[in-house]
Amino acid sequence: MTEPTPTSAYPRVVLPLTGHRACGPAWRCDRCGEPWPCPTLRAAPTDAARRATMIPEFSRLTRQAVRDLRGRPDGPDPIAIVRRFLWFLPLTDSEARAVALRLR
Ligand SMILES: [Zn+2]
Repeated sequence: MTEPTPTSAYPRVVLPLTGHRACGPAWRCDRCGEPWPCPTLRAAPTDAARRATMIPEFSRLTRQAVRDLRGRPDGPDPIAIVRRFLWFLPLTDSEARAVALRLR
């Protein structure tokens, strides 16, 4: 597998942890099987510049995950999904709720 060039935003975020990816509707890490974004990915260091590149991508993923996971019998509620997918942002409860409402 060839790695994408570091010029696009998304690979810059994920590439140091190649394989720790997921997609809907299950949102479990391909590598470790944990709910994604998995602990390994979340433990990766970020800085302000990296977080700025992550916001649009993870906002899109959060919206998709809310649609996939909402209403599942044992699934997380939309606020928990927002906190999980936007872990790198310091959201208060009311801010997370506001984001969840916007992503419906
Ligand atoms: Zn993982």
